[in-house]
Amino acid sequence: MSVSLDTIVSLCKRRGFIFQSSEIYGGLAATYDYGPLGSELKRNVGQRWWSAMTRSHDNVVGLDAAILMHPTVWKASGHVDAFHDPMIDDKVSKIRYRADQLIENHIARLRKKKREERADGVYERFVAALNSEDVPKGLYDIIISEEIKSPDSGVADWTEVRQFNLMFKTKIGPSSDSEIDVYLRPETAQGIFVNFHNVRETARLQVPFGIAQIGKAFRNEIVARQFVFRMREFEQMEMQYFVKPGSQMEAYERWKQERLDWHIGNGINPEHLQFHDHEKTAHYADAAVDIEYLFPAGWQEVEGIHSRTDYDLARHQEFSGKKMEYFDPQSNERYLPFVVETSAGLDRTILMILCDAYREEEVNGEKRTVLSFKPSLAPITAALFPLVKKDGMPEIAHSIESDLRKKYNVFYDEKGAVGRRYRRMDEAGTPFCITVDGESVKDGTVTVRHRDSMKQERIAADQVSNFIGDQLA
Ligand code: ATP
Repeated sequence: MSVSLDTIVSLCKRRGFIFQSSEIYGGLAATYDYGPLGSELKRNVGQRWWSAMTRSHDNVVGLDAAILMHPTVWKASGHVDAFHDPMIDDKVSKIRYRADQLIENHIARLRKKKREERADGVYERFVAALNSEDVPKGLYDIIISEEIKSPDSGVADWTEVRQFNLMFKTKIGPSSDSEIDVYLRPETAQGIFVNFHNVRETARLQVPFGIAQIGKAFRNEIVARQFVFRMREFEQMEMQYFVKPGSQMEAYERWKQERLDWHIGNGINPEHLQFHDHEKTAHYADAAVDIEYLFPAGWQEVEGIHSRTDYDLARHQEFSGKKMEYFDPQSNERYLPFVVETSAGLDRTILMILCDAYREEEVNGEKRTVLSFKPSLAPITAALFPLVKKDGMPEIAHSIESDLRKKYNVFYDEKGAVGRRYRRMDEAGTPFCITVDGESVKDGTVTVRHRDSMKQERIAADQVSNFIGDQLA
């Protein structure tokens, strides 16, 4: 079923997945805090990515670079000059929009109305504008000639389109004359590029090899909306794969498929995932594709896979004056490796998992809300329920609980009707509920209730940990 974003937002707050940041002060736009369930889910997903990238490849290693970097890094990377979004203001409502998104939405509306030819025409002009010398003017001309109206005021009374740099600037240093401007990193990738030789030498790697990291990134997004889809502080899971020039397309195709498979392996319905080639490839890139998910608002990016040539290493070589070349012992050549990068948003991945796992069902005339997470990603793996708070049942339940705690995040609950306890766990996405009843006291068995099928089976109490281990494998 398709779920609305509002439903997900309210479930996230109600159950402690995700809260608005600084809520008691009225919140801070586009920043969010992960609660008890959300932080477990995020950790599990990040861990699965880490294992898939580093542990499963003998030539991919990890890195955990600092958020603050030397300011010249961002000149070399091109972010100081070119990391901006085109913005336009509605003169009536004073609300700011991203000019490119206004046009994209306009094209989508035309397609919805089956005006394909017109949509194709606007799309062609849009691609031409994005690739032109004067992007703001190109976008402005389309907005004016198409008479695109402000979604807010319904009027087409626009300012010019201006470029707006997305990097957050801050200062370091004890006094105003010795302060230097630094940036909060807008992507994690540059920490990898500047450590290319450090990592290669210390991990004794030969090209091809990859460096992976998970970390925070910051962007002063113009229009922050759609919950954790577009945040000002978010987390990225990025990997840079260094290859011999000429072999990049083979690596690109392979990583493209591996990354799609990883998302499917998170339990995402493959029909809700697609590749989308970029309208505009950066001048230095020779291929770029997005993995998109069918979010409540439509198809949107969760991960980008980019073949970036030797652009980044060449720029760092130029700006730092340090050689970034690699001597290839196989071919006796010296060259700047080419890079294929995979760049996923952890928060967007979480939102995708929440949307895809959400189900509403009717059971015996009552609504049941279930988050059908892949069991190994679920924030709580198992819940322990003594049927009643007496007759030795809590003791048995506690003893299973402490055994499971050695490996899993578990939850003990002895309050209220068991049916209600099941429902609460369904909504948290807990795959297994273990109930201890009168029979357990007599014969040492318990019931395991499965979240998705609601089927129950009896197993020996001392086998619960093994049983769960088998189910998660
Ligand atoms: P978009 O076009 O949606 O702004 P992007 O193309 O700028 O995204 P990249 O620079 O390729 O994104 O970043 C890689 C990934 O980081 C994205 O696929 C996305 O999952 C995530 N990401 C980027 N910006 C944000 C954000 N503001 N909030 C949450 N995740 C983000």
